[in-house]
Formats: sequence, C-alpha cells, structure tokens
Amino acid sequence: MQTFENYTYERPDMPAEKEKFNALLNKFKEASSYKEATEAIEAINKRRNTLATMFNLVYIRASIDTNDAYYQKERDFFDEVSPEISEMATAFYKELVSSPYREELENQWGSQLFQIADYQIKSFSPEVMNLLQEENKLSSSYSKLVASAEVEFQGGTYTLAQLGPFAEHKDRAVRKEAMNASAGFFSEHADKFDEIYDKLVKVRHEIAVKLGYKNFVELGYVRMQRIDYNAEMVDVFRKQVRDVIVPLASKLYKKQAERIGVDKLKFYDVNFDFKTGNATPKGSPEWIIENGKQMYKELSDETNEFFQFMLDRNLMDLEAKKGKEAGGYCTLIEDYQAPFIFANFNGTSGDIDVLTHEAGHAFQAYSSRNIGVPEYLFPTYESAEIHSMSMEFFTWPWMELFFKEDTEKYKYAHLASGLHFIPYGVAVDEFQHLVYENPEWTPDERKQAWKKLEETYLPHIDYDGNAYLEAGSYWQRQGHIYDVPFYYIDYTLAQICAFQFWKKSREDQEKAWGDYLHLCKLGGSKSFLGLVEAANLRSPFEQGTVEDTVAVIEEWLESVDDKAL
Ligand SMILES: [Zn+2]
Repeated sequence: MQTFENYTYERPDMPAEKEKFNALLNKFKEASSYKEATEAIEAINKRRNTLATMFNLVYIRASIDTNDAYYQKERDFFDEVSPEISEMATAFYKELVSSPYREELENQWGSQLFQIADYQIKSFSPEVMNLLQEENKLSSSYSKLVASAEVEFQGGTYTLAQLGPFAEHKDRAVRKEAMNASAGFFSEHADKFDEIYDKLVKVRHEIAVKLGYKNFVELGYVRMQRIDYNAEMVDVFRKQVRDVIVPLASKLYKKQAERIGVDKLKFYDVNFDFKTGNATPKGSPEWIIENGKQMYKELSDETNEFFQFMLDRNLMDLEAKKGKEAGGYCTLIEDYQAPFIFANFNGTSGDIDVLTHEAGHAFQAYSSRNIGVPEYLFPTYESAEIHSMSMEFFTWPWMELFFKEDTEKYKYAHLASGLHFIPYGVAVDEFQHLVYENPEWTPDERKQAWKKLEETYLPHIDYDGNAYLEAGSYWQRQGHIYDVPFYYIDYTLAQICAFQFWKKSREDQEKAWGDYLHLCKLGGSKSFLGLVEAANLRSPFEQGTVEDTVAVIEEWLESVDDKAL
C-alpha cells in the first residue's frame, strides 16, 4: 500500500497541459452525442484532478516544512500558474454552461455544478491574471511571515502554536507574559502586516473593478460560491448575533471571571477556563491517536473504516515543529482519493479538536470521494464546517477516553467557546465588508474600524495596556483575512447548524447520525441551504433559529455547577 511519503509529485509542464486540455475541450465542443460529451468531460476531469493532486502535494509539503527549499520553490511555481489553471477551468465552464447537452448533464449531475460554473466564470477574466498572481504572492508572504515566528519566552524559543499552552497556564503572570510575547511578534512586524494587507485590499479592489464589480464585496461572495444567500441576509444574521449571543457571551465571561477568581477578565484570562486548570488530554500524541482509533471504531462502521485508511497511509501530520506553518487544515489528494490532516499538536484540548474537527472534514471528503464530479468533492466552506463542527459533538460520548477526570470541564468549555466564538466570527466578517467597501482606507482607519467592532461584538475585551492590541490590530493574526477574503462567517453559520446536531444527537443519536452520514455523502452536490435542508436542519438565516438554538445551549450551560469543576 502506498503511503503519503510515496505519493509522487512532478512539476506539471504547463504548455503541454494546456495543449492536452484544449484538445479535450474541442472534443467536448464537437461532441455529436451526449455519450461523447460525457466521455470528454470525464477525460477533462481526470486531467484537472491530476493537476489538483500536484497542487495539493506541494501545498501540504510546503506547509509541513517552510524551510524545505524544494517545495517552497514549487509553491512559488503554483502561485504563479494557479491563475492559468483557473483560466483553463473557466474555459471549460464556459463550454459546459452553453452545451447543447446541458439539460441531460444537469439531470445527471444536478444544477449545483452549473451554478458553480457560472460563479467561476464571473470571477475570472484573462485581464486580471497578473493581478491574481500578485494577490497569491502577497497572501503566501503573509503565511511565511507568520510561520517564521520564533518567539523568545522564558529563556526558550517557541512557535506561536507552541506558546498556546502558556496562554492557558494556571499562573496569571505566565499567561500574561505568553500572550504579550505572541502579540509582540505581530507588533514587531506590524508595519509589514499593514503593508501586505494594504496591498492585498488594493489589488483585490482592482480585480473587482476590472471584472465589472463596484468593489470587492460582491466578488468576494462570488468567489466563495455563495449561491443562495447574500450580504443582506448575512447582515440580518449578524444582527441576531448582536441581539441574542453578545449579551449571553458577556454573561458567560462574567461567570468565568468569578470562576477563575479575578475581578475583571483580561485578554490573557479569556483562554483560562477553570481555576484548577483547563481540561488537557492525558497522554502523548501517540496515545491520543490510539484512543482516536478506538473512538472511531465504536462510533460507526463508516468512521472505523475511514480512520484506519488515514492511519495506514500516514495521512496525518499532527505535531507542532519549527518551520511548520500555523493552524490546521484538511484537504483531499484527488488521485489517491486520500484526505490529509495537518495540525499543530501542543498538549491542549485543541489537540482533541483536531482529531474531531479536522477528522470531520476528512470523513466528509472520504464519504463522498466517489461522487464523480470534482466540484462536489468538498462543499462550499460554510457547509464544510457543518461536517467538522458537528463531528466535534458526535464524538462527545468518547471524550472520557482523552480527558479522564477533566471530561466535564472539556464539555463545558467546548460549548461555551462555541458560543463565544460566534460574536468574534461575525466581527471578522463585518470588518471585511467595511474594509472592501472603503478600499481607500489607510491601515490606521482599518484599525479604528476593528476597534469599534470590538466594542460592539466583544465588549468584554480588555487588552490591559498592550498598545499594539489596543490600537485595533488583533485581526492581523487572523490568517483568513489575508488568505481567503470573506471566509469567516462560514464558521458562525456552521456553528449554529452544529449546535442543532448536538441537540439532536442527545435526543436520538441514531437518527442524528443518519442525517449526518447522509450529509457527508452528499459532499458538495448542493448549495448551503440545500444541504441544510437535506440534513433536516433549520437555516441560520431564518428568523428565530439563532434564538431557539442558543436557548438550548444556554440551558445546558446553566445546569452545570461550573464553579465545582
Ligand atoms: Zn474546519
């Protein structure tokens, strides 16, 4: 059996690729029957999958070791050619939507593919190719700068992920020092972070205008493939968050301050949940994975098969290492039909979230790997986060395996942090709307806007004199803002859906799991609201969904004697 290390990367010869692609595209255009047309599409998709495989192998290997010169060079290569790959996809989509066999094709594959094709066409023109290349380079330079962080702390050097446990340390002075140290890295490079973002905003605005949009907001939605909702609906959702969740979150923060015995919560207290210390996994990374194996074996036959597949092929890179990029993600290596999980284990409860959250993404990708249409392998982002965030809840009955005596602490903090996250998430979203509606803003004006949003959505925030953070700079550590504009509301919409699965799984685990499995198998074959409906969930945009969903969570949190934990 082939393992990840042996998956072969070869730099694609772009001129040759384009020639082969164009020949196949001609075959599709000239197809004299539906059968010929589908055969041509399948051949085109095979080539597209192989290109995507090379792209993914490069990005995975480059993110695992940013000091690996070979894969850094290959990533630069892909930054350079990925707009050309987009151009090929767009050419294919243009033929697809105007195909004489469209009706039959839609009957076979559903309309989602055609919606995706329309959106891709609307987001690209050869005219913006150079600007897209520029954009890619800028966002890679952000990732590299963050990955380069080597923070001096208590006589050692740490990556940002490795500082994580100190942000939850029992000793308040240690937490403070650790949080100030990690903010210190961003503050030291603040000018660079300002400059990269300023250039990104301007280049994105220019792309949008060239493509015929007023500003980047609308293009951002098109790029994110938001097919059945728009900025007005998101605005209504943010209002519900403001009215319902912000006051509840403030109440929970107050309880937290009492629980950990401080007068007022400072920013370095927010991650510290219990006076006796946060819930932590009770063993090494190997032990966590062993327990993960047992958990997925007991959860269902499908998850058992999936997790064994991941283990057998070394499809997880989990431990934090120097030179490794920050964060966590899951992707799919198309030609091997293999999901891949990337994470930075650091000994906190976040490690278990990786095993449930990222594994939720991977499980969806695995469940729909035979779906036949490359566009359907992953759903759009807000839908994809339903799979991952809901898996965090479906695995609750096994949390004792990892947390032992800390299990109740984990569960309480997990639900509370889900709620706390939503106001932050919508603030990041509103920030981006403001930034792209006002492309002429200076870095300082952007910071002022962020500061105001913090007052609205995160009124508990107290930066305790940290000048960099008090100036409205916190968002600079939120990679999405740089890398994938408007990718953030997704997490908050999905969290509302995942909360609904949490409730359902407690009422009837078997039925809830059935709905979830169905959702996973659908992959990306439907739009967000289509998937929500197929999974028997209520739309987060519907009036009352936020209120009703959150009420159940609040009730559970209230029922816990949190001070005794
Ligand atoms: Zn995710």
